[in-house]
Amino acid sequence: MIKAIRGTRDLLPPDTALWNFAEAAVRDVFRAYNFQEIRTPIFESTELFARGVGEETDIVSKEMFTWEDRGRAASDRAQSLTLRPEATAGIVRAYIEHNLGDRGLNKLFCIGPMFRRERPQKGRYRQFYQIDAEVIGPPSSGSDSPARDAEVLEMLATLLDRLGISDWNLELNSVGTPADRVQFNEALRKALEPVVGGMCADCQRRAVTNPLRVFDCKVPEDQPVIETLPRITQFLGEDSRKHFDAVQEILTKVGVRFSLNSRLVRGLDYYTRTAFEFTHGALGAQNAILGGGRYDGLSEALGGPAAPGIGFAIGEDRLILSLQEKTTAESVLRKPDVYIAPMSSMNAEAARLARELRRHDLVVELGDDNFRLKKSFEAATKTGAKYILIVGENEVKADAFALKNLATGEQVQVPRNELAARIQLEAKS
Ligand code: AMP
Repeated sequence: MIKAIRGTRDLLPPDTALWNFAEAAVRDVFRAYNFQEIRTPIFESTELFARGVGEETDIVSKEMFTWEDRGRAASDRAQSLTLRPEATAGIVRAYIEHNLGDRGLNKLFCIGPMFRRERPQKGRYRQFYQIDAEVIGPPSSGSDSPARDAEVLEMLATLLDRLGISDWNLELNSVGTPADRVQFNEALRKALEPVVGGMCADCQRRAVTNPLRVFDCKVPEDQPVIETLPRITQFLGEDSRKHFDAVQEILTKVGVRFSLNSRLVRGLDYYTRTAFEFTHGALGAQNAILGGGRYDGLSEALGGPAAPGIGFAIGEDRLILSLQEKTTAESVLRKPDVYIAPMSSMNAEAARLARELRRHDLVVELGDDNFRLKKSFEAATKTGAKYILIVGENEVKADAFALKNLATGEQVQVPRNELAARIQLEAKS
């Protein structure tokens, strides 16, 4: 038997109702902040991610699904393509390619699958879903203002609250600018030199290639050493410090709680200033629901104009796991309002009725005139329909139908033209 590939999974009903519920809330909340949707391709040139995510990162160095695309003619040059491991690089590419800055399109969001060749475990997949949003624009648009950072964070707090995920923690840091980090990196290298020999292999590698990433280490034995290392916050220049203070001041004013975490870093040059993560206690080791930050240098790193930006990626799979604690798929699933049970040779009449009722926005399950009444009742109950509507010869003649409430057992004869209103009454209550 052919099965789904490890690390991928089928999202089945009724769970898909929960995914749609979450995505509807996301669209509603994002709309209130004037974000608009962008859909970028699932695959792009490998170079985009190498530059946009960084060759040094685990994502690019180990986790990408990459292949050589040879084109159709023998003379076509092979091009290296990659399934997108994240959305920001593609969105910023589109921003540059279509001059979105000139068109005032600077608040964008995207929902879709991402691909990383990671070791699959609970909450970690090879095809997973992200909800991604970016605020990006020319410096004259104020896209580098701390007000944008605070607005994005407040939007996320609003979204999680709205979804009933109330026990989130917002962890906040500033990683400064590349200039701030020159001194910090030096101090970090110095501090690591005498101790790194006792740390894990990853940390030993990071100490040479990108010492900042030592802070990402999750190995328990390394933690006491990491605790003693210098922190970026001690090296922030005047402008970065002011920016960070302003973000915190607005968050406090609007009532969004946060805690400072000076270990929260991003190991890439174009990441600047604000870095953040929302975690949720229930997720265990994979407790980050979302992560994000400011990337004032990314557009230029991709060959575009200066366009400071800030964005985030919500791990939708983990968002749903958190959501499931309070909201079940059953509770957001819309069950049929009515099951239409045609008696013998009444399929056509039943189809006509179903068409009428569906035009009134009712959810209709249509039975079959091969079924005996008993089987129709069983089938109706199985679908969870509120009503069963009997369509027999007498009913058609009278143009009035037997409508039975499956929960109360109450049965009434309802004229055709009153059926939709009668069922709707119950559907809305
Ligand atoms: P990142 O793009 O690595 O900053 O990740 C952003 C968010 O996406 C994380 O906080 C996770 O919630 C989610 N995420 C990242 N990798 C995976 C994965 N392999 N499976 C499921 N969710 C993931």
